[in-house]
Amino acid sequence: MVVVMSPDATTADVDAIVTKVQSTGGEAFVSRGVERTIIGLIGDVEQFRGLNLRAMRGVEDVHRISDPYKLVSRQHHPARSTVYVGDRRVPIGPDTFTFIAGPCAVESAQQTIEAATMAAAAGATLLRGKAFTPRTSPYSFPGLGIDALKILAQARDSTGLPVVTEVVDVAHLDVVLEYADLLQIGSRDMTNVALLQAVGAAGKPVLLKRGIQSTVEEWLMAAEYVAQRGNLDIVLCERGIRTFEQSTRNTLDISAVPVVQAASHLPVIVDPSHATGRRDLVVPLARAAMAAGADGVVVDVHPDPEQALYDGAQSLAGTELRALASAVRQLPALLGRAAAAPTVTPR
Ligand code: PEP
Ligand code: MN
Repeated sequence: MVVVMSPDATTADVDAIVTKVQSTGGEAFVSRGVERTIIGLIGDVEQFRGLNLRAMRGVEDVHRISDPYKLVSRQHHPARSTVYVGDRRVPIGPDTFTFIAGPCAVESAQQTIEAATMAAAAGATLLRGKAFTPRTSPYSFPGLGIDALKILAQARDSTGLPVVTEVVDVAHLDVVLEYADLLQIGSRDMTNVALLQAVGAAGKPVLLKRGIQSTVEEWLMAAEYVAQRGNLDIVLCERGIRTFEQSTRNTLDISAVPVVQAASHLPVIVDPSHATGRRDLVVPLARAAMAAGADGVVVDVHPDPEQALYDGAQSLAGTELRALASAVRQLPALLGRAAAAPTVTPR
């Protein structure tokens, strides 16, 4: 069951409900979103009914949810959510189209600052880049770690773009939190429950990539683990799934965009770079994402893709980046969305 609090409910109102539920031996998970607080209840539904929670102060509604994910379900939350990132409060949600760009991973200060400058010039409002990089091959370069986080902070200072970076281990979470504005959970980690719970409790928005072999329902249940720890600021990212097709690295499941939007109130963006591994396909699939109603895209850019240590074959520069910038400027507007300009005036 889910208790939806009214927008003006106080902390004391929420605490009173949690205490009441716990008094019956049930568990209550409080998730504070931008607009309202939602409390997911686990336990005996009949017993919860007897508590008459609907009559308690600050309660707007009490629902029984049939989905296996509750807090992220759209069943009790028909309005789609917007997640705000960083000091600039860059929105990701239904009214805007958010363009995220940056290097696959931080290789050096110069490469990262140049990629960030390219991203900003192309109209991106968030900078991506990995410091800790799980690789498919154990012989691939594993990333610069904490030094990379410092470089990302430098790039944020010089461009003003808030930073999206991946957290791969609970042990790194504290240090990543010092630098990141949006915490990415990569495809390989979507089923890492301990990590999902840790970022759920960390107090920063989360970008949750779809597992390469995961169904939409499994993906939403992963999001539910984050939400259960009190964080509803979750952005989902479709990044392709493994199929029999060999011409692209993975198969971008574009239908997942409207499927997820019907099932969940969370924003969903698309990563055409990691889905395909092919630069020539990034712009067409980014356009497809816009047309399908995605709330944004995230793409790899690199000042010198030929020399990139990571994912050079999919990294944009020059002509392709200009083509994407132009699509981002023009297409979302035709579909009734604004570019995701910061809601706070940049410093
Ligand atoms: C990435 O975003 O850098 C990445 C490796 O993506 P994924 O986890 O989707 O493979
Ligand atoms: Mn990559």
